[in-house]
Amino acid sequence: MNLLKGQCLCSSVQYEIEGEPQLSFLCQCRQCQKITGTGHSAELVVSEKVVSIAGKLQGYEMKSDNGNTVVSQFCPTCGNPIYKKSAGFPSLLFFHAATLESPNIFNPQRVFWASSSQSWDFIDPELEVLQKMHKK
Ligand SMILES: [Zn+2]
Ligand SMILES: [Zn+2]
Repeated sequence: MNLLKGQCLCSSVQYEIEGEPQLSFLCQCRQCQKITGTGHSAELVVSEKVVSIAGKLQGYEMKSDNGNTVVSQFCPTCGNPIYKKSAGFPSLLFFHAATLESPNIFNPQRVFWASSSQSWDFIDPELEVLQKMHKK
């Protein structure tokens, strides 16, 4: 079975994900802009059941733009955000792709919250075309 491994900047948090992500996406909402310090987050969605985590995380609770309570879990030592959990999707975790050991496997399929995008945040136009196709 496919095994995805990742860790935070200081390596005190390590995780493993068994199997393929259910969805990979970019999110341009304001929360993701702040969490990542740039124009969008790059996230993979996985079932909580296939994840194992070693090390201590700290959670920050916030409201997402669509009103769900979202907890951002980050490493308290280096501050690296690892994943988010939304009350709207109780059995799923949203991992930040750049924390993967091999982030090159990330292959985004969707863009969310393009309405709050920044003019300097360039998104692959092919991906936007793909998104329009999904919406049909
Ligand atoms: Zn860390
Ligand atoms: Zn977002």
